[in-house]
Amino acid sequence: MTQGTIFDIKKFAIHDGPGIRTTIFLKGCPMNCWWCHNPEGQRPEPESMAGGPGDTGPITVGALMSVGQVMAEIEKDLLFYDESGGGVTFSGGEPLLQPDFLAAVLAQCRRQGIHTALDTTGHAPADIMARIAPLVDLFLYDLKLLDDAHHRKYTGVSNDRLLANLRHLVRTGREVIIRFPLIPHINDTSDHLGKMKHFLQELGLRRIDLLPYHDIHRQKFHRLGHPDRLGDLAPPEADVIDRVKADLARDGFALTVGG
Ligand code: SF4
Repeated sequence: MTQGTIFDIKKFAIHDGPGIRTTIFLKGCPMNCWWCHNPEGQRPEPESMAGGPGDTGPITVGALMSVGQVMAEIEKDLLFYDESGGGVTFSGGEPLLQPDFLAAVLAQCRRQGIHTALDTTGHAPADIMARIAPLVDLFLYDLKLLDDAHHRKYTGVSNDRLLANLRHLVRTGREVIIRFPLIPHINDTSDHLGKMKHFLQELGLRRIDLLPYHDIHRQKFHRLGHPDRLGDLAPPEADVIDRVKADLARDGFALTVGG
């Protein structure tokens, strides 16, 4: 029986693709971003997380679920998907780290006519991406830093593979929305925004979800025993977000903020 390790299932999500959605969070990520908002999704196996304010004690994050169990959760909200043009989004962590499970659930959704979105870093072997891509209706594709040295520093891996996979998805006609986490002083400079715009224009990609950094991860880092390398970095001010929005919109990008 194919099983996946899931660390959350969010119902009635409205920022993870079109309409009302169920978002399934798969555990395990090949990256280690300094600003990670879901650090409990980084390790592939279930793990203990110390209790937070109001909790009675440590909790276990992550559990094995079968394809049938996950489909049962998805099917509870079929009516909402139909009425809102919604569906299911797979997020994480990085869902492509569990390709057999992901492919099995995606195939089942396809058989049932349920719209699917994949929220991905794109950092996966090309053969895995090629296997999964035809089963996905919409890619929500993370783009964090175009400079490879910076990408290695802040995420722990090169961006070579994810850029190659993104080019392949575009070449093969897949629907892609870019997800750009806006991190003050790291990727919000005019130099980086210029490079990103140029890269996306070359690919013909126009849709961007702008995800301003927030600092709720800090408490989770502490509870998991992860180092907090961003220190006291504050979320971007409204005027910075407005400046970036205006800059991207001026060049014809279609933007949403938040996610
Ligand atoms: S890719 Fe996403 S889940 Fe993985 S470490 Fe970075 S922010 Fe966290």
